[in-house]
Amino acid sequence: MSVKQHQVIIIGAGAAGLMCALTAGYRGRDVLLLDNAKQLGRKILISGGGRCNFTNQNIEPGAYLCSNPHFVKSALARFSQWDFIAMVERHGIDYHEKTLGQLFCDDSAKDIVDMLTTECDWAGVKIQLRTEILSVAATDGGYSLQTSEGEYRCKSLVIATGGLSMPKLGATPFGFRIAEQFAIKVLPTTAGLVPFTLQPEDKARFEGLSGISLPVIAKAECGRQFREAMLFTHRGLSGPAVLQISSYWQPGQSVLFDLLPDLDFVDWCKTITAESPKLSLKNGLSRLLPKRLVERLQELGELPNKNFNQLSKADVAALDSYFHCWQIQPGGTEGYRTAEVTLGGVDTDELSSKTMEAKRHPGLYFIGEVVDVSGWLGGYNFQWAWSSGYAAGEVV
Ligand SMILES: Cc1cc2nc3c(=O)[nH]c(=O)nc-3n(C[C@H](O)[C@H](O)[C@H](O)COP(=O)(O)OP(=O)(O)OC[C@H]3O[C@@H](n4cnc5c(N)ncnc54)[C@H](O)[C@@H]3O)c2cc1C
Repeated sequence: MSVKQHQVIIIGAGAAGLMCALTAGYRGRDVLLLDNAKQLGRKILISGGGRCNFTNQNIEPGAYLCSNPHFVKSALARFSQWDFIAMVERHGIDYHEKTLGQLFCDDSAKDIVDMLTTECDWAGVKIQLRTEILSVAATDGGYSLQTSEGEYRCKSLVIATGGLSMPKLGATPFGFRIAEQFAIKVLPTTAGLVPFTLQPEDKARFEGLSGISLPVIAKAECGRQFREAMLFTHRGLSGPAVLQISSYWQPGQSVLFDLLPDLDFVDWCKTITAESPKLSLKNGLSRLLPKRLVERLQELGELPNKNFNQLSKADVAALDSYFHCWQIQPGGTEGYRTAEVTLGGVDTDELSSKTMEAKRHPGLYFIGEVVDVSGWLGGYNFQWAWSSGYAAGEVV
């Protein structure tokens, strides 16, 4: 079989790879986009409950976890959320803000995949799916790839194969292996934006509460906190507050939840005691919290079985601290099976923040989730994929 030559080869036709391909294509580069899957952009298709939370109006570097917090600045500034929104609008895709600046398609995530494939088509990108990459090697002035479809050569090779989350959707450690092959440091990887599992004792305590959701402030030991909803599940705790805080949690640490974030509990008790002294604590609390949760906490002996007029000052103080500092030590997380992102990855010290090129390997680029950059929940991860893909697409 003859060797096929392209100026640019991108491995991984996900969010970052598609953006990089169309950007380079519009610059007149001859681009081949390879993927081992049958379908491109699979994570985009299932993201945001099928509506793709494609970016966030409030993108800022502080919303990214990375061993070098400055690394993301350049790429995010050069292709911002407003640039991506402009592309979405040019394609006539209707969208809306759900909450906290999070932008979702009105109809379907497929609109985003269709937009990116249309742009790739207009930019003259060649897309080839179902292609296994067997090996990669450096050549004089470029790279060669042995694949299930023969040998390919290119001047610029872009690795856009994503992280380890959701192996069912085709996630592979390919990008990390290539980095290691070229002696590029890969920082330890772990699941992020992932539900917590509970220790057996807590699991038994909260059995039966699955499906209950309430607004909380979740605080990690490092001091980071998120005000969003928490959800009890069959396995443990989930919901946006928990997914967010999971990225800042280390095994063995506790998480504090403020279960009544906006309430001056002592004042509230005074008011209720004055208005309805004989009201039971359980019925009073059920005005603020899901009834099933209050009942369970009382069954567990964590709430006194008293009326408001029977509560001592010490009772009120203890309840105040209980609800504002509800502490859980998670048993672990659900891991890559359900995680939205992979924390860690290709060390940003090894890459140019302007171009994503490996400092010690000219012509080799890493973009998207394979890099040690992970965003908060809410469109931040796709924006990193678009921005880093664009940064490399401008120079490959
Ligand atoms: C369930 C779920 C929902 C999510 N929802 C959102 C959301 O709403 N908003 C948001 O911002 N982020 C969301 N994310 C995160 C977001 O999907 C990722 O951060 C983003 O897709 C990363 O883009 P990427 O291009 O780096 O990797 P990916 O999109 O994962 O693309 C990687 C591509 O590489 C290909 N590939 C992998 N290994 C190989 C190999 N060995 N050979 C060839 N090709 C390979 C894969 O087939 C895939 O096409 C979600 C993630 C999950 C799991």
